[in-house]
Amino acid sequence: MDMKEFSEKNRERCEHPKGFNHALDSWSVSDWFTALLGELGEAANVAKKLNRVRDGIPGNKETEAELKKKLERELADAFIYFDLLCQRCRVDLPAAVLDTFFRKSLEIGYESFDLSIPGSREHLQRACPEHLAIQLNRKGKP
Ligand SMILES: [Mg+2]
Repeated sequence: MDMKEFSEKNRERCEHPKGFNHALDSWSVSDWFTALLGELGEAANVAKKLNRVRDGIPGNKETEAELKKKLERELADAFIYFDLLCQRCRVDLPAAVLDTFFRKSLEIGYESFDLSIPGSREHLQRACPEHLAIQLNRKGKP
């Protein structure tokens, strides 16, 4: 499942009567931010407990393995809300992430895309044509 397919499923489950039965637009952007930050707070609390493990500080009720699994789930919860927040904001997350990643790569002079890989030019042309043009121009290739 790619990111676009996941986003479609995520929204479908959010809004479906047999899912959360919660229309995406019935919550404000602030509401979705609150949900996202709640999950990040839960993840941070687990990270704090893993710091206790690292530092030999007592107080945890769960094992390190249990905490690592819990961190994984809280981060996933956060991602799920982040995706819904982006949908609420009408942000095309995969496109925005690629565009932002490539722009920063260009800014720092990092060749983030190996154009010698078959199909990579076409992929980059679809994802971020501006980045492809700049990268080709930098290499002096038409
Ligand atoms: Mg959670």
